[in-house]
Amino acid sequence: MSTLTDRIPVMVPYLGIEEEQAAAEAVASGWIAQGPRVAQFERAFAESVTAAHGVAVSSCTTALHLSLVACGIGPGDEVVVPSLSFIATANAARYVGADPVFADVDETTGNLTPDTVREVLGPRTRAIVLVHQGGVPADVRAIKELAEPLGIAVVEDAACAVGSVYRGAPVGAEAQVATWSFHPRKLLTTGEGGMLTLDDADRATRLRRLREHGMSVSAADRHASAGPVFEQYLEVGFNFRMTDIQAAVGLVQLGRLAEIVRRRRELAAYYHALLAGVPGLRAVRDPEYGQSNYQSFWVLLDPDFPGGGRDGALARLAERGISARRGIMAAHLEPAYDTVKHVDLPATERITRDSLILPMFHTMTSAQQERVAAALLEPVASGV
Ligand SMILES: *Cc1c(COP(=O)(O)O)cnc(C)c1O
Repeated sequence: MSTLTDRIPVMVPYLGIEEEQAAAEAVASGWIAQGPRVAQFERAFAESVTAAHGVAVSSCTTALHLSLVACGIGPGDEVVVPSLSFIATANAARYVGADPVFADVDETTGNLTPDTVREVLGPRTRAIVLVHQGGVPADVRAIKELAEPLGIAVVEDAACAVGSVYRGAPVGAEAQVATWSFHPRKLLTTGEGGMLTLDDADRATRLRRLREHGMSVSAADRHASAGPVFEQYLEVGFNFRMTDIQAAVGLVQLGRLAEIVRRRRELAAYYHALLAGVPGLRAVRDPEYGQSNYQSFWVLLDPDFPGGGRDGALARLAERGISARRGIMAAHLEPAYDTVKHVDLPATERITRDSLILPMFHTMTSAQQERVAAALLEPVASGV
């Protein structure tokens, strides 16, 4: 029973007894590393986004890294990324020795657009990492129309976008390669974990090899074989495997996904109603070509929003036991990237400075949402 003073967390993973049982069954089976449950999770997840192949890995960060390896990106190449993203997006370019090039985003979606990408294209551009930020689908076709004639690869960072919809189909359905996260901050969780989805069979085979030390035969296949099998190491790979315990949890979570997304869209609709018509405040919404899973419900405040703007709002919410978060980070403002030259990034800087992410979780009540809105709008209501 929640009371008026209970702490409201920003996010709570939606897990039940079925996940516990599935993990316990995997342990009891004696096969806990990558095995049959990982294979089953890959098939089920790929099917859910209508991709031909799924390749499970240890995180979305390692998925992004492998996606760039598989696209042949390396030293001397430039990779266009939004600065407005979790740091892993930019780091992936660095992992393969390439140079990340920061592009600005649209202020309403938080995503790259053909105009912001065109501004930073150059003769060394070899890939674009298109992020579906916070679950808001990016306009994939518009970016591909720009990139494909130039032979530039498009990787979709769909870490936040499981269950989001782009032009009537799941995000990932049209991807050259899409990368997914199963961290507990995302909607479908395996503790840690990630996936690549794609249609190209040869590339899927290479990705499977790369995640497992470059081995010609997977450990699971070798184990299942009747006679002795000698593996070869075909190239320098990585250990980016998912475990069968994680995949067992993921399979149960996948079965809950539609319900999780339905509930988040319901919670978003109530926030929209509570915050409608407030001057100097704009809440994230569906773009005209798709639907967000509302993994992050963020609001953008005017810098002079009553009560001290964004930072004042965060402090006010914290005082009332409500965990909100600053908006999405901007990599170019972090010490790790502060020497990277970049074009002006006005929308990125405005969003990262003036936005905050409101609490949203499956079991959140209307009363809790009303408490959040009241705390956010208190100075507006009182005219301070
Ligand atoms: C969370 C996130 C990642 C990293 O995911 P991990 O699974 O934690 O490695 C990458 N990109 C974006 C946009 C994210 O939100």
